[in-house]
Amino acid sequence: MNKSIRNESVHSANERNCDRTLLSAYADNELTQQQRQLIDLHIADCAPCAQELKELIQMKNMVKGSSAPSLEADKIEALLEGSGSRIAQTIAWTILIISLCIGLVFSVYEFYFESNLSVFEKLIPSLVWGSIIGLFVSVARQQFIARKTDKYKGVKL
Ligand SMILES: [Zn+2]
Repeated sequence: MNKSIRNESVHSANERNCDRTLLSAYADNELTQQQRQLIDLHIADCAPCAQELKELIQMKNMVKGSSAPSLEADKIEALLEGSGSRIAQTIAWTILIISLCIGLVFSVYEFYFESNLSVFEKLIPSLVWGSIIGLFVSVARQQFIARKTDKYKGVKL
C-alpha cells in the first residue's frame, strides 16, 4: 500500500517536473547528460516549460553574445512548433491550391467554351490576364535571379 503510493508520487513528479531551477541550470549547461534528457522529455510535453527554457537560453545568449547555445534554442523552437502542425499546414495549403486550380480551370473552360461571347469579347480578358501572368512571371524570375546571385556572393565571401 505504502509502496504503491510512493511510486505514484514519484511518477507524477516525473510527469510534471516543472522545476525552474533545473531549467535555469539546463540553460547554463550545468546539468548531467541524464538530467538534460529528462528535461528534454519534459519540455516535449510541457509547452510552458519549453517556452520558459527558450527565453532563459535567449537571455543567456544575449548576455554571453556567443552563438553556440542558440543551437539549443533552435531545437526547442522546433519542439514548440511541432512537426504535426507543419504537416497540417502543408496539407491545408495543398488542398487550397488544388481547389483554386480546379476552380480556375473550370471558369476558364466555361468562359471560352460555354459562354456565347464573341471572339473579340473573349480576346480582351485574355490579353488582360496574359499581361498579368507575364508580369508575375517576370517579377518572380527577377526575384529568383536576385536570390541566386545573393547566394553566390555569400559563397565568395
Ligand atoms: Zn513543465
